[in-house]
Amino acid sequence: MELRYSSKINKIRSFAFWLIFGGIGVMYIGLIFKETTWLMALFMILGMCFVGLSTLVYFWIGMLSTRTIQIICPSCEKPTKMLGRVDACMHCNQPLTMDKTLEGEEFDEKYNSKRYKKNKTQQQS
Ligand SMILES: [Zn+2]
Repeated sequence: MELRYSSKINKIRSFAFWLIFGGIGVMYIGLIFKETTWLMALFMILGMCFVGLSTLVYFWIGMLSTRTIQIICPSCEKPTKMLGRVDACMHCNQPLTMDKTLEGEEFDEKYNSKRYKKNKTQQQS
């Protein structure tokens, strides 16, 4: 089975979307318990926390977007945003890299981690 990669920003965005969805769902569950005030209040507060959290995540995406590098995807020729050393195209999920040494290598999220960078420099020296 082929592994599918999606752009980090897309991933975070869908996470925020599901948080809102979950929050509304939880608030809806609260309505079932409208006979029990404290239980309804509990679900309502929980739901609002979810929605509030997703607002924070959307805010975070905005912050991350300022740090992304805009490039033209070599595969679908659409402009895409890259975050970190390796990322995937937002349109066609083509794995992309900023690092020449990683070019042609298997796409892996681990290339973004600090520990991997350290190992790589140790190998080179
Ligand atoms: Zn693409």
